[in-house]
Amino acid sequence: MASQRRAEDLARKVIRQSVLDGRAYHVPDAAGLVKLDAMENPYPWPETLRGAWLDALRGISLNRYPDAEAAELKAKLRAAFSIPAGAGLLLGNGSDEIIQMLALAAARPGAALLAPEPSFSMYKVIADVAGLRYVGVPLRAPDFALDRGAMLAAIEAEKPALVFLAWPNNPSGNLFAEADIEAILEAAPGAVVVDEAYHAFAGRSFLARLDAHPNLIVMRTLSKLGMAGLRLGFLVAAPEWVKQFEKLRLPYNIGTLTQASVGFFLDHGKVFDEQAARIRAERERVFGRLQALPGLRAWPSAANFILARPTDLSAAMVHGELLKRGLLIKSLHGAHPMLAECLRVTIGSPEENDALLSALAAILRG
Ligand SMILES: *Cc1c(COP(=O)(O)O)cnc(C)c1O
Repeated sequence: MASQRRAEDLARKVIRQSVLDGRAYHVPDAAGLVKLDAMENPYPWPETLRGAWLDALRGISLNRYPDAEAAELKAKLRAAFSIPAGAGLLLGNGSDEIIQMLALAAARPGAALLAPEPSFSMYKVIADVAGLRYVGVPLRAPDFALDRGAMLAAIEAEKPALVFLAWPNNPSGNLFAEADIEAILEAAPGAVVVDEAYHAFAGRSFLARLDAHPNLIVMRTLSKLGMAGLRLGFLVAAPEWVKQFEKLRLPYNIGTLTQASVGFFLDHGKVFDEQAARIRAERERVFGRLQALPGLRAWPSAANFILARPTDLSAAMVHGELLKRGLLIKSLHGAHPMLAECLRVTIGSPEENDALLSALAAILRG
């Protein structure tokens, strides 16, 4: 139709080349499937907690804007996650939004965002859209460790405004050596973001090192802990950083229902700590079983997922056969050369994990 062509011509004229060249984030339809693809917590809230939560929501006035500062929620976050009193705290609608705020803030002409790869895909996606030069530095094969020499050389050559280190790394699941991160903090001329999205499953943090490194920014999210549907991420850094990033935060970015629900969640944090402990124990059990499967290589993980590679079958074949059996995992084939024929499985409930393990064993047996 002529009007459609006209709209397309107009969009091509108006929209920036980096956006025209990009692709919208694709989320596969998971209806009716066991969902082991997105690092969600498999456990629902206990029934009694659901009732109390709904009671807590009853008094909320949705005709009013949210608390723009989310003051009550911030106080609860500070207490729950032992955020140092002198540190600044910034909230995002998921930590994806925080990555975007940082990228927009740092996007001077020629500025670079540097990250090891393979790592979290949004670092590059957001750098491209924000107009930052993306610099990827390969991790070491076969264990996905940081290549300290290559990282320091790239930092020296590219002078990145932002360095992103997912710790543990997604999709490889490993914790980079602390000494390597320290060396990067010392060498980087800009900010170094330690993205602790999987903190609940790794139990290690750079939060206590904020005083030692004025260029350190620690990022967390509640998504992997059991609140993916609420969208809340946060950043902790020196107040001088947060003061600047606040200028890019859209007013009311954290909705009233999210503020109230996360607050309620933090009041019952023990439930979620117990769930994280169960997920960690399941991770060890699943890893042991995966390692024992002939025809599969699995990498150890400090997160709530495991990277694996079938040695004799293609990732697409295994992914497709699992789908036929009602199990959705993630194929990483094509995302990066180091991830050729790789699959990523999220740790689910014991029943879900057993279903995955027996299906995998059958598929690999052929
Ligand atoms: C999942 C993930 C995020 C994003 O989480 P949000 O749901 O946007 O808070 C950030 N970093 C890493 C490394 C992740 O795996």
